[in-house]
Amino acid sequence: MNKHIVIILISMTLMLQAVSSVSAAQTKVIITFDDGWTSDYYKALPIMQTNNQQATAFIITGEVAGGTGRQGFEYMNMSQLKALYSAGWDLSSHTVTHPFLTNLTKLKNTSQLNTELRNSKNWLNSSGFTRASMFLAYQYLRIVLSFSMKSTDIGYRLG
Ligand SMILES: [Zn+2]
Repeated sequence: MNKHIVIILISMTLMLQAVSSVSAAQTKVIITFDDGWTSDYYKALPIMQTNNQQATAFIITGEVAGGTGRQGFEYMNMSQLKALYSAGWDLSSHTVTHPFLTNLTKLKNTSQLNTELRNSKNWLNSSGFTRASMFLAYQYLRIVLSFSMKSTDIGYRLG
């Protein structure tokens, strides 16, 4: 007997909707990109558009204003973020300045931790990127319990 696995590439918001729906029976994969590099725009976007797929880009919101938008190891600018968002991509938080969040927690620097989480979320919302502002990507793959609780307090739904 042949078994076929259908993998569907979807955004974070679609995944959140899908987990409680009947269509959850199909395998789904979320593609995410961290930091907001221009390679999201120049390389990933055209490929994913060709295949009618969307991804999630986790943005260091404090880097956007100075983002050159040029190809290479550069941050995206606002118009590039708008292009991703218009193409159906989710734009989510990767904090304001990309600090070591666990260090902030260990040092009990709750003030800076709050600022990083709250201001990046607020920036997404005030920039019109509201669809996925409730998602957060942790830096350096580090998660601690106290931090997870804090991110929930601020209104993040998935991290
Ligand atoms: Zn990162």
